[in-house]
Amino acid sequence: MALIEVAGLKKSYGATQAVRGVDFEVEEGEIFGILGPNGAGKTTTVECVAGIRTPDAGRISVLGLDPRTDRAELRQVLGVQLQESRLPERLRVGEALDLFASFYRRPADQGRLLHDFGLQDKRRTPVKALSGGQQQRLSIALALVGSPKVAVLDELTTGLDPRGRRDTWQVIEQVRDRGVTVVLVTHFMEEAERLCDRIALIDQGRIAALDTPAALISGVSGDQRLRFRSADAVDQAALSELDEVVGVIVEGRTVTVTGSGDVTGAVEAELRRQGVSTEGIRAEATTLEDAYLSLTGRSLGAYADSEGADA
Ligand code: ADP
Repeated sequence: MALIEVAGLKKSYGATQAVRGVDFEVEEGEIFGILGPNGAGKTTTVECVAGIRTPDAGRISVLGLDPRTDRAELRQVLGVQLQESRLPERLRVGEALDLFASFYRRPADQGRLLHDFGLQDKRRTPVKALSGGQQQRLSIALALVGSPKVAVLDELTTGLDPRGRRDTWQVIEQVRDRGVTVVLVTHFMEEAERLCDRIALIDQGRIAALDTPAALISGVSGDQRLRFRSADAVDQAALSELDEVVGVIVEGRTVTVTGSGDVTGAVEAELRRQGVSTEGIRAEATTLEDAYLSLTGRSLGAYADSEGADA
């Protein structure tokens, strides 16, 4: 039996249909990713799973519990790290852990948690005196303080620098290796690709695809991607007809071509024929971003992230 089952989940806020019929199952022991751009409905979905929001329609089961009716029991087995969880600023790190631990029947070893998240020297430090990255790590530690069977982590590495991000990924892998099932919400492609066993790609309140990262990427059919900006109009149909080309997507002036073989040479020759400048075109290996783009026609915004401009 799956550890989490979600079927037909729908949730609107007034006229905004945030979640429009979502189905997925999370298996025990996996890191399950929910990947999509801001506003796709990721947080609403996991808030319903965690019993924080009431769905308009659908059925949810977490370890056989119904988040709406079994909230007290659910809290003992599901830890949540939500975006922007606010702690009283004067609370010290150790006090926050003690407070959270008091809610649970089987609290985790606090020394180990502090050590895992690089906070071992901060026990007596007020939360407000922690750096942004330390506060973020504390919020993850607090999600794990009840020794949950499932941890829901929403935008885990927001506000962390690349080093903090990589360190946090390592900790999450350790958490999974200790037997905790992890549901990871992210708009950050590299994080999903690196950490997740399976990923649901979510777009405008619906699941566009659900599979392992490798299968999602190979599903794009074509192992290379070219991206270029062109001031001139490009004949998209002519590019699409090339044998080496699998897909062409035009977003404004940015053209993305996926394909295989000598796709670069074929595209360059075709663009020259069209009289379009071909300077600086080069092929890269396809990623989850390409899978997302080809499935939804929209980008994740992951390129901004990889250049350090985190949203
Ligand atoms: P994501 O986590 O993928 O960014 P959310 O679930 O937060 O997506 O939001 C999905 C949609 O629902 C967005 O259009 C967002 O503006 C809207 N939304 C989210 N929370 C609320 C709320 N409390 N009230 C009104 N609209 C909301």
